[in-house]
Amino acid sequence: MIETLRQVASNVWIFPRDEDPNRVQPNVGIIVAGKHTVLVDAGNSPRHARRIMIALDDIQAPAVSYVIYTHSHWDHVFGAMVFGASAIGHELCRKQLTETAAKPWSHAHIQEEIIRAPHRESQFRAIARAVEDWRNFRIVLPEIVLAQTLRLYLDGTTIEIEHVGGQHAPDSVIVRLPESRTLFLGDCYYPPPMHLRNTEDTLDFSMIRSLLDDGIDTYVDAHGDPIDREGFTRLAENGA
Ligand SMILES: [Zn+2]
Repeated sequence: MIETLRQVASNVWIFPRDEDPNRVQPNVGIIVAGKHTVLVDAGNSPRHARRIMIALDDIQAPAVSYVIYTHSHWDHVFGAMVFGASAIGHELCRKQLTETAAKPWSHAHIQEEIIRAPHRESQFRAIARAVEDWRNFRIVLPEIVLAQTLRLYLDGTTIEIEHVGGQHAPDSVIVRLPESRTLFLGDCYYPPPMHLRNTEDTLDFSMIRSLLDDGIDTYVDAHGDPIDREGFTRLAENGA
């Protein structure tokens, strides 16, 4: 069972992404800090989150104390209700999710949204595939909100959250683990989301260069494999 998780540092794992892009199932970060588990993102649905819960059980992780949202996009947030934990996010993330949570989520609502915004059809179809059952669905708003930076000190583990914004989502934050030399990046340097993307949009190479950090050995973005320091340096140079 433990093979579902991939360990990236002594106390850090990911529940790996689904490589099928149609499933829109990103990596979820798992940080075990003493008697706390902290997640980086919440999974794309309650079903995804329940699979993560089973994997947490396999490594005997403590209860989830906090879920850090890297940004407000559905595939990073819609599993949160399963964990019963406090969510942390940027103030713009809370604002966006307050709007998202006010929608009457159901399969009928999704059909209406597709008619109203046909350019977003593939996104809504992916949401409908991920969330089969909308009964009792609930979006968890961040109850701890940051504007610039926030640090957690949990049983000897430092977790630094920093707002970086960018073209993909204005509320993007990154999560740095100085002791584990690991950096979670969410989608921060990706092009804008599909329905807002222009053909000339690329990865944000100036952001990638700004993220190079001598204190980091492992870079984890949300929809790719973890990247080591050499790989990330190469990525930064590609756009130079
Ligand atoms: Zn995103």
